[in-house]
Amino acid sequence: MSVDKKSAFDWIENNKELIIGISDKIWEFAELGLIEFKSSALLADELEKHGFRVERGSAGMPTAFVATWGEGKPVIGIMGEYDALPGLSQKKVPQKETLEQGKPGHGCGHNIHGTSGMAAAIAVKKTMERDNRKGTIRFFGCPAEENFSGKVFMVRDGYFTDVNAVISHHPSTMNEASMMSSLAVNSVKFHFYGKASHAGGSPEQGRSALDAVELMNIGVNYLREHVIQDARIHYVIEKGGDQPNVVPPYARSWYYVRAPERDQMEFIYNWILDIAKGAATMTRTEVKTEFLEGSYNVIPNRTISELIVKNMREIGLPRYSDEDLKFAEEIAKTFTPEMKIAQLRKSKRPGWERLLDKLIDDEIPDPWGEGEVSHGSTDVADVSWQAPTVEFGTATGVLGTPGHSWQAVAQNGVGVGHKSLIFAAKVLAATAIDLLTNEDALNKAREEHRQRIGNKKYTSPIPPDHKPPLDVWER
Ligand SMILES: [Zn+2]
Repeated sequence: MSVDKKSAFDWIENNKELIIGISDKIWEFAELGLIEFKSSALLADELEKHGFRVERGSAGMPTAFVATWGEGKPVIGIMGEYDALPGLSQKKVPQKETLEQGKPGHGCGHNIHGTSGMAAAIAVKKTMERDNRKGTIRFFGCPAEENFSGKVFMVRDGYFTDVNAVISHHPSTMNEASMMSSLAVNSVKFHFYGKASHAGGSPEQGRSALDAVELMNIGVNYLREHVIQDARIHYVIEKGGDQPNVVPPYARSWYYVRAPERDQMEFIYNWILDIAKGAATMTRTEVKTEFLEGSYNVIPNRTISELIVKNMREIGLPRYSDEDLKFAEEIAKTFTPEMKIAQLRKSKRPGWERLLDKLIDDEIPDPWGEGEVSHGSTDVADVSWQAPTVEFGTATGVLGTPGHSWQAVAQNGVGVGHKSLIFAAKVLAATAIDLLTNEDALNKAREEHRQRIGNKKYTSPIPPDHKPPLDVWER
């Protein structure tokens, strides 16, 4: 192991308590996307304290920030997220116990996501400073991954144009830097306007906006037979009227439309817009379409994935205390073997059957899944069209833990989560140092990126004048 990396690891080891403390504070804040005021300030302040130049309020989002240290090329980016999920409040106990009724919780572990990146950026800075190295390390504080794709706004506004490579870490049940892609997505609301009337006394005077919502959903559900296998369409009815004796003059649905490539998604999306118009025609109501946000599919990068796996192996997986393992065992009892099998199979990890009897992932597999697609979406994808980008995972929870669950919230605030956070910070730091100091590796990653993009063009999914919905939680 090079001396370079050792000094970065030493900084992380010596500041373990500080790092875990910050992660736990963000866990407690549990702030929703676009209003992560305390969480983003905590991370930005810490970076500033360590000599980073910090721009706050980036891309029109008060909770986005960019922290930079160093000068010139290469510019290596590390991304961090810190938004929580609604309704998932949970105590740090291995049974379902709400901490604060109706409040958010870190069911995707973004308390760790933001902190592992922050710690790595500072550790890399210490090493670069000590060795008098050229180059720039840049931490991107990225809000609202879960709902409004903060990074897509940052990409549109040019924040990633001069970055040569980008890495980030996401909590997972596996130690992985897989090659799988994600689904491109559009998020859209349909507002239907009809006419109120007495539903008993004069129904013939009314035009039901709820009928339009229902007929539109029926139309879309018939469309499902004619879309590609990997597409995903899901909706909720946000507003369906007030009470049965009033014909609903207003109703609203919210849709996500997903497919592996942006053009495949757009084909289905445009069809759904037509179905909405059809539903309005059938019910003699009017429809207004409100596009919210969209993102691309992930472009993987084998060069960087391999660097990450090599660094994971050099650093070595964390060791857990008896207390950590006891907590983990209790959590594991809360889901059935079928749930675990389903999750492991879906990962498409070669030899996943081996993990069936294991509590925590104790392997570091080679990157897998080239050409495969996972059926979620992420705004990391849009960054991956700008520069070679890899988001890797480390096991912050037991195998089989469902994403966005109370079990995930609990584990992201205790022992296994803490140790995985420190491990991930070291992996991020080591990989950033590789990309900063090993020109061949960086050039190889960039060449691979060029080849994967080929002649495909990136056009921002959001229009130039589209603003982040900052008032969304007040509506
Ligand atoms: Zn997440």
